[in-house]
Amino acid sequence: MTRFLVLLIAAYVIYYLFKNSLRSKTKRNALQSNKGENTDVVNTHLKEIAYVFYSTAKDRDTCDTCLALDGKHLLPNHKILNDIKPPHVDCRNPKGCRCTLVYVTRDEDGSKEIETLLKRRGGLCDRQTIDWELRR
Ligand SMILES: [Zn+2]
Repeated sequence: MTRFLVLLIAAYVIYYLFKNSLRSKTKRNALQSNKGENTDVVNTHLKEIAYVFYSTAKDRDTCDTCLALDGKHLLPNHKILNDIKPPHVDCRNPKGCRCTLVYVTRDEDGSKEIETLLKRRGGLCDRQTIDWELRR
């Protein structure tokens, strides 16, 4: 469990560094030209992300709504991603929602397989399905 948390944090840090480097690149580009930057950023951003998954703290305080979303894997351009983005609006945890979306980049081991799987499944899968499919 601890190892998993460390992995999550690492993934998050990598994602943040990655996002920042994109942002600084954009700034440089913005100096050179002024057309279509915003859409470019979004597209490049999505191009590098293989998939996203929802992660809850999974302890006594985690509410059912968030627990139901835990382990859901989505493609980064999936339309429900915005609706489920934590902190979840329906979260009933008295301490507040502690869920995160974990962004997995394409250079991560095994991310390509999961991305392909998600594409085949309409962009949304729960963890059990992923595990089951990958074991075949
Ligand atoms: Zn939550």
